[in-house]
Amino acid sequence: MICVNKIWAVSWTRADQYVNTINNILPSSHKNIGRRSPIDFSSLCVSMQDLEFRQQVLDPISDSFCAAKWYNATIWLGSGQTTSCHHPPAHPIGDDFRTNPRAIHNTNQKKEDRRMMLAGERPPGCEYCWKIEDMGRNAVSDRVYKSRIYKIEDLKTAARTPAHEDVNLRTLEIAFDRTCQLACSYCNPAFSSTWVRDIRQHGPYQGLESDGRNHFIMS
Ligand code: SF4
Repeated sequence: MICVNKIWAVSWTRADQYVNTINNILPSSHKNIGRRSPIDFSSLCVSMQDLEFRQQVLDPISDSFCAAKWYNATIWLGSGQTTSCHHPPAHPIGDDFRTNPRAIHNTNQKKEDRRMMLAGERPPGCEYCWKIEDMGRNAVSDRVYKSRIYKIEDLKTAARTPAHEDVNLRTLEIAFDRTCQLACSYCNPAFSSTWVRDIRQHGPYQGLESDGRNHFIMS
């Protein structure tokens, strides 16, 4: 179910404007909600404050700007990898950190992604957000939620900072090794010692396929 809250922040003046906006956001299987009568507003949940934040704060910087690329890092010390949020694939930290500790977060990959974002281009690793935004021009992706947690002044500072420069983290998720008692179907041996133990005991998985969400299923 998609739900709508904070309706008081909406600036629509006619019901058809509301319906058009909702239809832009909904997946195709739920389109044409306006043909249902009456519209069940309580069952819809879109925060227009989030949409306004995207339109008024992020989009003027660029259509693909996301502050997580500057200020957030997920770092796996066990595998020597990092990423900006949990959506893009992890990439190697590299050896630059031996002479520059800030390179643990400011990898060449992230700097290239920042350059693309400042130019309004879409880093391919962030496709999770691009798919959401391609659902409609009013769609709100994690790009908004992961940018809203920082001060607007910090977002402006990121936008002014040349892409090749190092920036300091504001938020950090760090794993010191891959010890984990779970074996979630969307995970893998790089992040779960339970996956490792299971494969060692029973051999490699055969016939694994993805369900399209990077969850493994058995064929
Ligand atoms: S654009 Fe989306 S996927 Fe990329 S860092 Fe921001 S929130 Fe994560």
